[in-house]
Amino acid sequence: MNEDRPSEIESKCLAAGMRMTDQRRVIARVLSESTDHPDVEEVYRRATAIDPRISIATVYRTVRLFEEAGILERLDFRDGRARYEPAGEEHHDHLIDIVTGEVHEFRNERIERLQEEVAREMGFELVDHRLELYGRPLTKKGRGTGRPDS
Ligand SMILES: [Zn+2]
Repeated sequence: MNEDRPSEIESKCLAAGMRMTDQRRVIARVLSESTDHPDVEEVYRRATAIDPRISIATVYRTVRLFEEAGILERLDFRDGRARYEPAGEEHHDHLIDIVTGEVHEFRNERIERLQEEVAREMGFELVDHRLELYGRPLTKKGRGTGRPDS
């Protein structure tokens, strides 16, 4: 962990004119370095491993602050826990493993085009979308190639 250079999220906070305390910097760093869509509890665990004085209330407040500034994106995968990822990443959709809760990112050009077509047929220009797939891992035997005829 490079402590000297501001993390990506901290840089965005500074650019947004946000006052950065030491605790906010730690939380920003934890969020910048997480690629697994952590919830607040998990951000809290990782942040207190760096600075044990950080409280869960501070993590809640800070995450909300970052979200309101458009720096962080909140995701809801129907398990009652808000999850977070840095906003403005390259567009992707999510597949949630309902057994482990693990979140996988994907992008599928056919789905992207299809959604645009659906919107256009309904008289709209598609400007954004969010897609979540919920799945259970296939056993090795049942795993196909992903094509309809396999
Ligand atoms: Zn993601």
